[in-house]
Amino acid sequence: MTRKCPYCDYTTEDASAFTCPHDHSPLAEVRVAALRLSFQDGTVVEVGPGEEVRLGRDPEWSGHAGWLGAFARVSRRHATVGLRGNGTAYVVAEDDTRNDTYVDGAAVRKGLSTTLGDGCTLRLSTQLSARVSLPEEAR
Ligand SMILES: [Zn+2]
Repeated sequence: MTRKCPYCDYTTEDASAFTCPHDHSPLAEVRVAALRLSFQDGTVVEVGPGEEVRLGRDPEWSGHAGWLGAFARVSRRHATVGLRGNGTAYVVAEDDTRNDTYVDGAAVRKGLSTTLGDGCTLRLSTQLSARVSLPEEAR
């Protein structure tokens, strides 16, 4: 869980930290509002906490099959992205994909959950990429 100082830019993943080392202010818990994927063609896919979205060209499997149909190298059942309730985002490359899924240029192992960090790049095959962002909940 990430905590953040309300007065300066200090953030920490340290579960035992409750005050800012700079101004000694109580740290506030950061809540991730969504996993946002901004694809190169302008399409934005948002996933809420506790939700998963399937990405592929099979219309019976993915609600995004329509626009993904323009990318022939994206598999029919390519990958699932999700956001856990604790704010951790992930991607799972589906077992039946013939084309790889990459996070920051490295191919992910199929069937395993790989963490998506704020600012990383998710790529489906060599054709389609998205910038990952994890916007915080408005206070
Ligand atoms: Zn501070």
